[in-house]
Amino acid sequence: YSHVEGHQNPSNPVSDPALFSPVVSDPDADIYLNFMKEHRCYDTVPTSNKIVVFDTKLQIKKAFFALVTNGVRAAPLWNSEKQCFVGMLTITDFINILHRYYRSPMVQIYELEEHKIETWREVYLQDSFSYLISISPESSLFEAVYSLIKNKIHRLPVIDSLSGNVLHILTHKRILKFLHIFGSHIPKPRFLQRSAQELGIGTFQNVAVVEETSPVHVALTMFVERRVSALPVVNKSGKAAGAVIGLYSRFDVINLAAQKTYNNLNISMREALLQRSQCIEGVLKCYPQETLETIIDRIAKEQVHRLVLVDEEDCVKGIISLSDILQALVLSPAGIDALYT
Ligand code: ADP
Ligand code: ADP
Ligand code: AMP
Repeated sequence: YSHVEGHQNPSNPVSDPALFSPVVSDPDADIYLNFMKEHRCYDTVPTSNKIVVFDTKLQIKKAFFALVTNGVRAAPLWNSEKQCFVGMLTITDFINILHRYYRSPMVQIYELEEHKIETWREVYLQDSFSYLISISPESSLFEAVYSLIKNKIHRLPVIDSLSGNVLHILTHKRILKFLHIFGSHIPKPRFLQRSAQELGIGTFQNVAVVEETSPVHVALTMFVERRVSALPVVNKSGKAAGAVIGLYSRFDVINLAAQKTYNNLNISMREALLQRSQCIEGVLKCYPQETLETIIDRIAKEQVHRLVLVDEEDCVKGIISLSDILQALVLSPAGIDALYT
C-alpha cells in the first residue's frame, strides 16, 4: 500500500485542555492514567500476527466467509481506486446486514448474496463513519483508549505512518491484558479493593437481556438498537425464572456465517447457543461483594470483554464490560467521560 494518511481521532483529547481538569481527589486515581500515557501503542503489538485486508470490490458474503476461514474478527477495507484504507468490516456489519434485510426463514437474503462491500457501504454509511479510524504506533495507550471509547468501536488499527502498513488491530482486551501484565510492577491503587458497584463501574440498570425461547433475530435487533456487545440469555420459566443460562455476544453471530444458517433467524436463542462451534462453557459472572481487583483478574484470565453481575439466584444485576473498566481507570481520572455521553 503506497501511502495512508494517519486518520487520527476526530476529536483529539489533547487538543481540549478543558477535558483535563482533575476531578478525582483519590491520590491513587491517576496511577493507571499515567501508565497508559507512558506506554505507546507499539508496545502492545505482537511480534507476529495475521492481518486480513479486504478490497471494497469483494463480495460481502465472501468477506464474511473469509473472516471465518482466517479466524479473524475484523478486517481493514482497502479502496484500490483511492489507494487508501476507507474503513473496517466487523461482525457488527454482518449483524447490521442481517438485521436490515432478513425477512423470513428460508428466503435467501438477496443483498447478502449479491452486494459488494462497497455497495453495502453506500447504503449504510449515510449515518456512520466513512473513513478508517486508526492510530499511530507512537501514540500513547491513553489516546488509544480514548479513541476506542469515544468512537464506540472495538477495533483500532495501528498504522505505521511511513509505510502505511497495518501493524496490529488494537482492542480493549489487548490493552487490559497489557496493563494486567506490565501494570503488576506499579503500586496497586487502593480502590481496587472496593466493589465495582460501589465505584460505579458497570451498567446496573436497564440491562439488555434475551429470553432463551426468543428467536435469534430478536437478539440481532437488540444488538442494533441498544448498541450493546453482548446479551445475557435468561431462563423464561420454572423455578429459576430470570436466571442467566448463557451469554450471546456479537462475536457469536459469526457462527451463522460459519454454518451457513443465516437464512433462518427464527431458531431459538437456546439453539443459537448450542450451534456455536467454539465457545466458553457456562457464563462468566461476578457478584456484588467481589472487589474490582478480583473482577479485573477474572476478565484478564478468561479473555472476555465483560462479566455478568448476578445475585445469589443468578439473576442479572448488571454488566461489567472492559469499556466500563477502561473508562473508569483511564479516562475518568483525566476528567473525560467518553463512554456515557
Ligand atoms: P465488533 O465489536 O463487531 O467488532 P465494532 O464495534 O468495532 O464491531 O464496529 C462498530 C461499527 O464501526 C462497524 O460498522 C464497523 O465497521 C465500524 N468500525 C469499527 N472499527 C472501525 C475503525 N477503526 N474505523 C472505522 N470504522 C470502524
Ligand atoms: P470479542 O473478542 O470479539 O470482544 P467476546 O469477548 O465478546 O469477543 O466473545 C468471545 C467469546 O467469548 C464468545 O463466544 C462469547 O460468547 C464468549 N463470552 C464473552 N463473554 C462471556 C461471558 N461473560 N460468559 C461466557 N462467555 C462469554
Ligand atoms: P461494550 O459494548 O461491552 O464495550 O460496552 C459499552 C457499554 O454498554 C458499557 O457501559 C457496558 O456496561 C454497556 N453494556 C454492555 N452490554 C450491555 C447489556 N447487555 N445491557 C446493558 N448495557 C450493556
